[in-house]
Amino acid sequence: MERALDKVSETLLMGPGPSMTYPSVYQAMAKPTLGHMDPRFIKVMDEIKEMLKVLFGTENDLVVPVSGTGSAGMETVLVNLIERGDPVLVITNGVFSERQAEVARRLGADVDCLAFPWGSPVDPKAVSEQLNVRQYALVSMVHAETSTGVCNPAAEVGELVHRHGALYVLDTVTSLGGMEISVDDWKVDAVYSGSQKCLSCPPGLSPVSMSSRALEKLFSRKEKVPNWYLDMSLVAEYWAGKKRTYHHTAPINMLYGLCQSLYEIMDEGLQEAVLRHQKMHEYLADGLSRLGIEFIVEKSCRLPMLNAVKVPEGTDDAEARMKLLFDHGIEIGAGLGAFAGKVWRIGLMGNTAREACVDRLLAALPKVMGQK
Ligand SMILES: *Cc1c(COP(=O)(O)O)cnc(C)c1O
Repeated sequence: MERALDKVSETLLMGPGPSMTYPSVYQAMAKPTLGHMDPRFIKVMDEIKEMLKVLFGTENDLVVPVSGTGSAGMETVLVNLIERGDPVLVITNGVFSERQAEVARRLGADVDCLAFPWGSPVDPKAVSEQLNVRQYALVSMVHAETSTGVCNPAAEVGELVHRHGALYVLDTVTSLGGMEISVDDWKVDAVYSGSQKCLSCPPGLSPVSMSSRALEKLFSRKEKVPNWYLDMSLVAEYWAGKKRTYHHTAPINMLYGLCQSLYEIMDEGLQEAVLRHQKMHEYLADGLSRLGIEFIVEKSCRLPMLNAVKVPEGTDDAEARMKLLFDHGIEIGAGLGAFAGKVWRIGLMGNTAREACVDRLLAALPKVMGQK
């Protein structure tokens, strides 16, 4: 009998994540599983923390890869920092910020949304005006909006939120490892990311960090964090300090993978990796323009790792993507929400941001275009 796993074969992942896992990460994940209290494993945890600090640009003590995908990181940050009735502002311009608002509402926050059109960046002036209207306990935004390919002004908004006295939550799921991030300089109080975007590790871990101001809020809550598994006051007992206390079993081999992907980025150099993303973005943009494929986002706020483009005139969206996948072994992303059927999302994340990957896509695209 043929089994489902037998059908799994190498595919060039050029969508919104997962990206191309580093071969060395697969090898690392095949290392022997250790116990979660084994001192050799604790050392791996400590190295992961130190490397994540570099990527996040932070001196925060609390840096933890949460057991779960990027969305688990989002839940973690919001469930720890929001109390019922808290006035919360969510700045939205895509799927992932709207998801933040949904989670905040489920936690009983009094949520206002400041919405910007999909495909456009957040305007700090409008944020400043909204912050004058009401005193918020927490303001949240997405740095790199994967659903639209837009980069939001994280530093400017951070300055405004800080002056206003609220906690600042930033989603860096897609930007971490592919763009410069400066959690401390941008005055971010809580940040989360994901392992399968620019870190090029399989999905399953979500690096999270919180500032001392965020921890003050956490430790002065009137009620316990309503989610036991993601309660950072408990999880941190396992990830920090001399004495490590068991909370839940760490996903050991996933963490080997994350550790190795961080070694890859450290070996290349973070700045070099960031530069490579920008260069590959420009290389792709040149090739796409030769094919007459247009971006939907203005040049000044395009993400290097997520290229949102118009589905070419006369091309059937779903059919072209299926041909790319099954005839050429390449996956690109479909449009979400209002962009469904109209937009393709081409990812150049982490280990996918290579000339050879771009060349393969540019060679395959003309063969799937213009067939309706
Ligand atoms: C992918 C993504 C998420 C969600 O991460 P999952 O790993 O799918 O749970 C959240 N925010 C952004 C910006 C993303 O790109």
